[in-house]
Amino acid sequence: TGSSRPQRMLKAVQKNATKGDPKSVISAIDSYCRHKEWAMNVGDDKGLILDSVLTEVNPSTALELGTYCGYSSVRIARLLSPDSKLITIEFNPAFAIIARQIIAYAGLQDKVTLVEGASGDLIPKMKEQFGIKSFDFVFLDHWKDRYVPDTKLLEDCGLLKKGTVLLADNVICPGAPEYLQYVRNNPRYESRYYPSNLEYTKVEDGLEKSVFLG
Ligand code: SAM
Ligand code: MG
Repeated sequence: TGSSRPQRMLKAVQKNATKGDPKSVISAIDSYCRHKEWAMNVGDDKGLILDSVLTEVNPSTALELGTYCGYSSVRIARLLSPDSKLITIEFNPAFAIIARQIIAYAGLQDKVTLVEGASGDLIPKMKEQFGIKSFDFVFLDHWKDRYVPDTKLLEDCGLLKKGTVLLADNVICPGAPEYLQYVRNNPRYESRYYPSNLEYTKVEDGLEKSVFLG
């Protein structure tokens, strides 16, 4: 058929999940991607680490770089306190169309603002156009060569404050060695690795949690 993988993931959600039930949306995507077709969602194993870091931080304002189909947006947004918000950035319009539908299916559209564009263009607009003072939590999961430049951009734009937590996915596979070097050897960050495996596989991968010290 002429359908795309994101369209097939959306279909799996519509068929197997309950509207307004984020947990069922997450399970439907994980089950589809584990048994039918791999996709680059953070997935169920690393997702548990994401959940626990997010719960501990309990952010008022969260930023996600790289939405894809909205799997991790749903994971994050379902755990946000009332009045807390997630901004998620995606530059591929075909993915953004699917993500909006998956986020709405989970009933989380009021907690999530999906902004279409390139992270490097949008980060400098966060204060003026989106009324953000700073982020409490940032999930980095876009193209791996953007982790360092976008972290520096967040610093330069004054979007990080003392205690902001950065959580970076795929630091081992496909890998973000320059990013690990940057946060681990930087006195402005306290950094720790959480081992796990690449989504829907047994290949080693993990998340790096880095607290900005100001
Ligand atoms: N966070 C998603 C999840 O776990 O469900 C997966 C995100 S996927 C690994 C990475 C996404 O980042 C892709 O959809 C890609 O189009 C997007 N992307 C990559 N570089 C980007 C950039 N500089 N600005 C905006 N989006 C970007
Ligand atoms: Mg990832």
